[in-house]
Amino acid sequence: MAHGFTHVLVGGAAAALVWQATGPPGGEPTANWLAEPQGWTVLAGASAVALASHLLLDLMPHYDYLFASWQEVLLSLLALAACFFLPPAPASWVVLLGGFWGVVPDLEHGPYWRGWMRRRFFPTHSGWLPHRKCGPPASLLSQALLNALALLIIGGV
Ligand SMILES: [Zn+2]
Repeated sequence: MAHGFTHVLVGGAAAALVWQATGPPGGEPTANWLAEPQGWTVLAGASAVALASHLLLDLMPHYDYLFASWQEVLLSLLALAACFFLPPAPASWVVLLGGFWGVVPDLEHGPYWRGWMRRRFFPTHSGWLPHRKCGPPASLLSQALLNALALLIIGGV
């Protein structure tokens, strides 16, 4: 697992790109735009792309710094807050949904580590696809760049 907050921010950024590509063309979207059929298509597309981003991040070589669970949770919540409060509404809902789906696969680690689940199911967690590692310096640089880029995309919606 890359860190939770990275999954949140990259998932949010992926959703932000979907919004930019498919959101309401020109002008201010109406408040209930997302409740209309085309809004649902955007929400579904953003969710799918965010979920796919989890897979890509796990495949990308990285180093997992040992943060305590509460630190992971706190940082992930801060990242979710960034997803919601940086973009203007209603895009903020799309980006928040992306942040949520970006990190959701990692929720299976907790029950697994506690022995409540015999196996994990997400492809990069179950061993079906490789979970790549690299040393701390390269990881620090690439992950920092990734987080910064994701924040730029989220803030630029
Ligand atoms: Zn993962």
